[in-house]
Formats: sequence, C-alpha cells, structure tokens
Amino acid sequence: MAQPTRAEVIEAELQRIIPIVVVGLVVLLAGLFLLYLSTIATWMPFVIGVIVTIAGVGIAGYGGWQYMQLNNLPSYRVLCPYCEKPTTFLAPPTEDYSCEHCHRIVAVEAGQIVPPLVLVCRHCGAPQKVSPRAKMFICDNCNGQNDLKPARPGVAAAPAGAAEESVEYMTYDLVLVEAGHNTDEVLEILCTVLAAPRDHCRGILKDLPMVILVDLPRRKADSYRRMLREAGAIAEVHPTGQYRPPAKQGM
Ligand SMILES: [Zn+2]
Ligand SMILES: [Zn+2]
Repeated sequence: MAQPTRAEVIEAELQRIIPIVVVGLVVLLAGLFLLYLSTIATWMPFVIGVIVTIAGVGIAGYGGWQYMQLNNLPSYRVLCPYCEKPTTFLAPPTEDYSCEHCHRIVAVEAGQIVPPLVLVCRHCGAPQKVSPRAKMFICDNCNGQNDLKPARPGVAAAPAGAAEESVEYMTYDLVLVEAGHNTDEVLEILCTVLAAPRDHCRGILKDLPMVILVDLPRRKADSYRRMLREAGAIAEVHPTGQYRPPAKQGM
C-alpha cells in the first residue's frame, strides 16, 4: 500500500496504544490490591501500594493522552471520481490510491486527482467511466471487454531511424468535446460512427467531453473529426491514451 489513509494510520496507532492502556490498568489494579493488603497484613508497607497505584494511573493516563492526540491528526478528504465517496488522508494524496469504497484505482498526477476518462464501449456504445491507468475495461452494460493500448504505442518499439514508420503505426483516440448547436445532426453522426443505439448516443452527448473511439488510424480519426466539426461539434484527435479530461470544478 502506498499512502495510508487516515483510518489506516489510526488503526496502526491503536494497535500501539491499547497495550499501554491495558498494562497501565493491570498495574493500577495491582497497586489497589497492595493498598488493600497493607491494611490487613503488617508486613506490607502502605507506601509501596501507593507507588504502584500512582505508576498504574500514570501509564494508563499516558495511553489515554496518546489516544486523545489521535483526534488532532490532520485530515484531508478526497472524493473518488468514480463512486463520489470520500477517502480521508493525513495529507493531500501524491500517488495513485485504491478507493476504499469501489476499489477502483484513482489516478493522481502532480498532486491532483486525474478525472476518469469517459470511453464508449466498442461493443454496445454505452459510455463508461474508466481510470486513465486502465489497460482494459469491462463494460457495465454488456460485459464486453475493451482493450486499451498503452500510451504511445510504436514509439518505444520503433528502432532508431524508423520514426516515420512509427507514426504510421500510431493510433489515435477521437474525443467529442462539445456537441455544438446542431445536436440532432451530431447525434445522427454519432449513431452511424459508433453503430450504437440512439439512447446511448444521447447519453454520450449529456456527458461530454468523452473519448468516443480509440485505436483509430490517423486518417480515420481525422475524417470522423471533420464530420463532427462540419455538424458544428468540437472534436479532437489525440494519440491513443494521451487524452486527459479537464479537471472538474470543486474536485
Ligand atoms: Zn470509489
Ligand atoms: Zn458494452
């Protein structure tokens, strides 16, 4: 586990503090017993009972004080961009964490939560929220598997001097940023391009920006973009896996 949550830190601290309190209480009870003994047995000096009792109170009190200090731990709430439930840390998260509610990986870059990509299932056309770290995702709607290529394919694999060829092998993602005014025509194009039912496409238009197609050859991506632009929409082409949606306000 990378960065512990506040709850995890408190749990670890309790594992340490509880034994201290228990030992303190045992010593306290022993001291009270010795005090009692000193009243019935003459060989038992009263002062030893007092010392042991005070020691017990001291140890238990120290444990109790440490327990109170846990309330003063700093707390920093982060909302999961997938299930919108909070996870509390001691400091703003600096690295990816796994949401304790939905168990999805929340990507963190430069101290900021990276919003999920919204991708369109290539099987049924339903829009899906996907972690930018995901290599694949299973569609919630049709259970179809969608493979996502790692960022910048071909670049790492291309030998020196083959730069031009690697461009040929690169694939691109088509992002619909805004539908514009002529939503009916954009909807028409979406349904054709995605081969998806109309209500799915309507859902896509409500949740922009969205990566609507992945792993396209450059020419195909550009021609889809042109079609969408001619209908008044704003569309962008990004190398596969490179697109990052703008951070939403209030995150
Ligand atoms: Zn979550
Ligand atoms: Zn699907």
